[in-house]
Amino acid sequence: MTRITVDHVSKQYKLSSDQEPINAVNDVTLQIKSGEGVAILGPSGSGKTTLLRLIAGLEMPDSGAVYYDDEALTQIAENERNIGMVFQEYALIPHWQAQRNIGFFLRLRHRENEVPAHVRRVSQITGVGLDHLLGRFPKQLSGGEKQRVAIARAFARDLNILLFDEPFANLDAKFRATARLELRRLLNEFSVTSVIVTHDQHEAAALSERIILMRDGQIEQLGPYEHLLHDPDNLFVASFIGSPQYNFFQGVIKDGHWQNAVFGSMKLPVSVADGTPVTMAIRLEYIDVGEEGFPARVESTTPYFTERYILAEVSSGETSWQVQLPVDSTIHPGDYIHCQFDPDEMLFFHSTKEYRIA
Ligand code: ADP
Ligand code: MG
Repeated sequence: MTRITVDHVSKQYKLSSDQEPINAVNDVTLQIKSGEGVAILGPSGSGKTTLLRLIAGLEMPDSGAVYYDDEALTQIAENERNIGMVFQEYALIPHWQAQRNIGFFLRLRHRENEVPAHVRRVSQITGVGLDHLLGRFPKQLSGGEKQRVAIARAFARDLNILLFDEPFANLDAKFRATARLELRRLLNEFSVTSVIVTHDQHEAAALSERIILMRDGQIEQLGPYEHLLHDPDNLFVASFIGSPQYNFFQGVIKDGHWQNAVFGSMKLPVSVADGTPVTMAIRLEYIDVGEEGFPARVESTTPYFTERYILAEVSSGETSWQVQLPVDSTIHPGDYIHCQFDPDEMLFFHSTKEYRIA
């Protein structure tokens, strides 16, 4: 197991001399505890893969440094880093059967005889037999089977760090859920520091203890999923984390109060200068639908049977928001409902600068 330190690391890509360079990773500092699992989450192009490649030593930073425990990564010989990697595209050697692919790293060290024991252990933990796949070439494997082989290969070696880049992105939804569960079991059983890149927040929440949420090469917030969900630092975090999303209400400060079309005039817990544009955010769970509160027209309803609720889009004038109705609700589009918003659960953000106000 290894503690990973990323210390003020930046990486630029220059496409051509007449174009502005891209700050793929921009002054990122973080520490991953020995044995911890973290996820790098963020939209496409936010720098997730670049940060992972910097952590892996596949990319050299322009400035800053990566450390494994107390040693600079550049000072550690490649064959002593003991990193297992799994990519979206499997990266299996096409003319090798699965058994040989899995044994790749052990063969390099003339320890091929350990491969069967590794395969048995991985199979035992995941509950998925691999024996019937071992004699097949990659082209004879389904996407899901290829990824099982690639994951078995990542574990079949001396292992300090495991790195995954969108490992399940090519799999269909049903198989993704199974594959995620198998990987969760492996991570529980092997003592290893892991970093998983994903743009899927459910995957991030399931496979990590802490989430690094990135945008434009920088960390927007780092912490457990529930923390990012309930205590977002800024509007970007609030709009990215949580599905369904937060509801947002635009307003402006006047006479020291927040003014909004639905809510009228509200006192904020902190004082904010008049004229400041302020966005209120509240999760659906904290809006009660009943006899009292603000009236709203139901625009559309979408049932979520397994989660046992109906998602309703409602509106008042130009403002719309979402609420959750019981799965057996008889409310239809065109009906009017009343919404009560829990004032203790309202978050306030500067609308343009995005930071949290209260
Ligand atoms: P993500 O994995 O979050 O989608 P990446 O780390 O792949 O993001 O990319 C971050 C930014 O760097 C993007 O703007 C991307 O276009 C750019 N980028 C990534 N790799 C290269 C490269 N090899 N050459 C030039 N630009 C790159
Ligand atoms: Mg990527």
